[in-house]
Amino acid sequence: MTRTVTRRGLAPDHLDRPLRIALPELGRGIGTLAKLGIETPRQALFHLPFRYDDFSELRPLGDLLPDEKQSARVRVTDLKVEAGFGRRPQRVTAQLADDTGSAEAIWFGRRFVETRLRKGMEVVVSGKVAMRGWRPQFTSPEFTPAGRESMHTARVVPVYRLSGGVTQKRARELLARVHERALPGVEDPLLPGERAEMLPLAEALAAAHFPGEAADVPAALDRLAFDELLALQLTLAQARVAREGLHAAGVAVPADELERLLAALPFTLTDDQRRAVEDVVGDLARERPMRRLLQGDVGSGKTAVAAIALAAVVRAGWQCALMAPTEILARQHHVGLAPLLAALGVRAEFLSGSLKATAKRRIHDAIEAGEAEVVIGTHAVISEAVTFRSLGLAVVDEQHRFGVAQRAALQAKGAGLEPHVLALTATPIPRTLALTFYGDLAISTIRELPPGRQPIRTEIRDRSALSRIEDFLAAEVADGRQAFVVVPLVAESEALTVASAEAEVERLRGRLPGLRIGLVHGQQRADERDATMAAFAGGEIDLLVATTVVEVGIDVPNASVMLVEDAERFGLAQLHQLRGRVGRGAHRSFCILLSDATDELARRRLDVVASSSDGFAIAEADLTLRGAGNLLGTRQSGLPPLRVASLFEPRHVALAERARDLADQLVGGDPTLAGRPALARLRADFAAAGDEGEAA
Ligand code: ADP
Ligand code: MG
Repeated sequence: MTRTVTRRGLAPDHLDRPLRIALPELGRGIGTLAKLGIETPRQALFHLPFRYDDFSELRPLGDLLPDEKQSARVRVTDLKVEAGFGRRPQRVTAQLADDTGSAEAIWFGRRFVETRLRKGMEVVVSGKVAMRGWRPQFTSPEFTPAGRESMHTARVVPVYRLSGGVTQKRARELLARVHERALPGVEDPLLPGERAEMLPLAEALAAAHFPGEAADVPAALDRLAFDELLALQLTLAQARVAREGLHAAGVAVPADELERLLAALPFTLTDDQRRAVEDVVGDLARERPMRRLLQGDVGSGKTAVAAIALAAVVRAGWQCALMAPTEILARQHHVGLAPLLAALGVRAEFLSGSLKATAKRRIHDAIEAGEAEVVIGTHAVISEAVTFRSLGLAVVDEQHRFGVAQRAALQAKGAGLEPHVLALTATPIPRTLALTFYGDLAISTIRELPPGRQPIRTEIRDRSALSRIEDFLAAEVADGRQAFVVVPLVAESEALTVASAEAEVERLRGRLPGLRIGLVHGQQRADERDATMAAFAGGEIDLLVATTVVEVGIDVPNASVMLVEDAERFGLAQLHQLRGRVGRGAHRSFCILLSDATDELARRRLDVVASSSDGFAIAEADLTLRGAGNLLGTRQSGLPPLRVASLFEPRHVALAERARDLADQLVGGDPTLAGRPALARLRADFAAAGDEGEAA
């Protein structure tokens, strides 16, 4: 086979060669690109700008605006060079003029500026303008002789992330050189019919780096976003197909048996719970491992659904496990589930790392012998030492707190057959995110709460109301109630967060001397934190001050107030979760969002929480309002981060759906993508990017 290298363009198979082989003429530029993490032509093509400066419009000097990046075509009327001295850098000042006015340009410590500028020269300058008195001043602008094409001025200019001391200008020049040679070698992984109205890949890459005008950028990024979303969806589709090849115990639950189990519960399931049970029972009957996510607000009754599933699987002769992220949550599950399961004729064991060695040994033996029917615990349940004789179903609570590795370890416990997995989460996942990140999971949703719940009154207050709020806390405690006070994480550091939480405890002790006040935070040892939480649950503490650890926290039906300080610093879904910590008993309950934020967006966000009790509506609103929030980070989903695509961009959400359809179709006909090597590598590159992200 002969390799054809066109005169200007690289052959496709050179795109992944080291630059030193593919483009030796770059010379020292190769080392410079290496500092940006670019080793191959393809990496250079996909090293995308993170923003653009639009210098395409030339402004008359008389019209320059302060604090904006602008371009102007000017004459240099004077040039002054002051040598650097000691630590003072060299300074070059140019006086500029056009028919409408004058301006100044100034550069500090930039060598060679003076050699490329002369008095009387016509240049185009591009850069940020500040007003010095009435006079506009460009600070370290880019410039080129007027009439000469430049990639740095008088156009839409790409701005790249830099590292290793490489300048923006140098990066731009080198990348442009690589692109010129590499773009002709770019093959579109999509067929024209699949691409439809989207740009061909090479055109999209060209426009993403050097758009002719600002309006060209969205279409270019859409195409690149689509490829990224397609790589993600191909990954998920392959996972789905791979699972079709796995075997699980098919657990048939006869209709009369199901009715008997339901009748044994101390309450009637809501319609949503009932539907979720039917979804799960349907999955269990198949000889393919269930991967289902059950989502519903705190208190919506997910546990009851899980209890039915656990009982059905145990009665079919299999063992089950339920895992929670912390010891105290696991214990609460045990306390809550054991009676339900007992009513269904099933015994639950509690296993945790803190058990005495002999007790642990006994439970391990019971699990190994198949005598333990349902094992409830923390990660200890999947530790190496535990061997299930026949694990049929694993229920994972607060699913997003469990890493992918832990989920994998769990699957390995299946001894030949894969266990069914039911994940429970109280973090509502908007449809768009679910589609994109949990495309391999089936989803059941509980929206309606069990009957008889007390609505929680939510109020937004500023700090001027603090003393009245404290009086209210004292009154509630005098009534026998308890309260949570949540202080925000301080972005700069964990230590500062703890310090501010401790200061808040001191302040409250001063203000409310009769109250028993406890503190939990992320830097405590787990057992210390658990002990404080347990004391709060036991009513030995009146006021629990916490950083967000109560977020997934414990069930304390006696707690009637949730006070969130600096509420604007929390995600809306998080606020809703925190609020769900109260209103769990018979007492009327309150959520107070304390905030001094005055900006419009912050107020609107808090209003969303105050005016809605629907976790899904809140999560969707969070997604649209926050624009950058981290509802469920890609990290938590265990998938590689998206670089171009944004789920806050409605166009990209539509692209995600389209990518999913295409991925299903492609993988359905050709699971390994053997017939579409370009797509196979698109997927592989995406997965590799994720591995790097994990390692970092
Ligand atoms: P979740 O796990 O979704 O946070 P739980 O399953 O712990 O919620 O249920 C919260 C409370 O509601 C529990 O005390 C439970 O017994 C009760 N509960 C659940 N389902 C119902 C129902 N259908 N009717 C009445 N009470 C219910
Ligand atoms: Mg629960």
